[in-house]
Amino acid sequence: MNLELSEEQEAVRRLARAFTDREIAPYAAEWDRAESVDRAIVKSLGDLGFLGLTVPEEYGGSGGDHLSYALVTEELGRGDSAVRGIVSVSLGLVAKTVAAWGTEEQKREWLPRLCSGEALGCFGLTEPGTGSDAASLTTRAVREGDAYVISGSKMFITNGTWADVVLLFARTGGAPGHRGISAFLVPADAPGLTRREVHGKLGLRGQATAELALDGVRVPASAMLGPEGKGFSVAMSALAKGRMSVAAGCVGIAQAALDAAVSYAARREQFGKPIAHHQLVQELIADISVDVDAARLLTWRVADLIDRGQPFATEASTAKLFASEAAVRAAGNALQVHGGYGYIDEYPAGKLLRDARVMTLYEGTSQIQKLLIGRARTGVSAF
Ligand code: FAD
Repeated sequence: MNLELSEEQEAVRRLARAFTDREIAPYAAEWDRAESVDRAIVKSLGDLGFLGLTVPEEYGGSGGDHLSYALVTEELGRGDSAVRGIVSVSLGLVAKTVAAWGTEEQKREWLPRLCSGEALGCFGLTEPGTGSDAASLTTRAVREGDAYVISGSKMFITNGTWADVVLLFARTGGAPGHRGISAFLVPADAPGLTRREVHGKLGLRGQATAELALDGVRVPASAMLGPEGKGFSVAMSALAKGRMSVAAGCVGIAQAALDAAVSYAARREQFGKPIAHHQLVQELIADISVDVDAARLLTWRVADLIDRGQPFATEASTAKLFASEAAVRAAGNALQVHGGYGYIDEYPAGKLLRDARVMTLYEGTSQIQKLLIGRARTGVSAF
């Protein structure tokens, strides 16, 4: 793997860095308190091409490789994980999945709008009763002539109340487990689909998270994404790549923690000198720094494997597991460097810690990543 970035990759990182410093970081605390990022950010993300990275230009995407996508995701995550998540879901889980599995008609219908930011996507897999064991989902799609009629409910859906299209997973067959699941592209304004915002989240408070209820939602048969009964494969392929994006976002959190800790340690004085002069404060900073580097290298390895067309799923689980735990550690260490001031929201460490915590939970909890890695190493499924 070549660790030197190309000129294009450097350029896209500079663009994302400047945008984050100007348009995201200064407002992140305000959006967190208000429980909503400024929705105008979606159009800006689209205008910059960040919602179309890796999607072919013929469908309105901005092309580019996965390392560029990881670089942009890290920068957005450094500024505000709530904004990073909007991109990781609409682009990473929805648009990229339509590009990979969609018919020509589905690609032409959704990709240009998703890539420009005119439309947002959300990913509807989790249900109130099924999380880690997603293959046991109970939302049902029944064929009626040329249409499917879908009923059920979905929980914790990122972008849920803002989205224009739901990539929805429902049971079409009588077959138990993953074999009876199909994927659908459901317009969010379809009659029978209602959305309720989930409030009171510990972190990612600026992000719209929703519960979806589907009561006899009718979609044409042409709304099915991928073959009938292959919906679980569609979901798992989306999540495998999605984990790289979550890992990159975690690198951004850890880098923000490092920046905040270094800056505060240089300014704050105790025992007659800046706290950066105390060895145990340097230990905290060194631990954050090691976590940043290790998480970033694991993430870049996944991007490199995807770009070279190599298998990457176990490496993506490894990066996601390590980077999410590292982001929690790094944010906690940064809070410690800030002392009591780390505990109030005038300083960024508390928000970084709250935002980092969910990364160990979604797109497969840390326990689920360990089972995936364990299965790959031993050949034994412990699910
Ligand atoms: P459970 O599956 O009930 O797990 C509870 C605990 O049991 C966990 O610690 C878990 O690791 C452990 N556990 C479960 N099974 C095993 C096992 N076999 N071995 C060992 N331990 C096990 N979902 C979507 O579909 N789309 C989204 O956009 C989305 N966004 C989200 C945003 C937020 C803010 C949150 C909080 C969640 C989001 N989710 C989304 C849902 C998320 O993916 C699930 O919460 C996650 O998969 C865990 O499922 P669960 O919450 O039902 O926990």
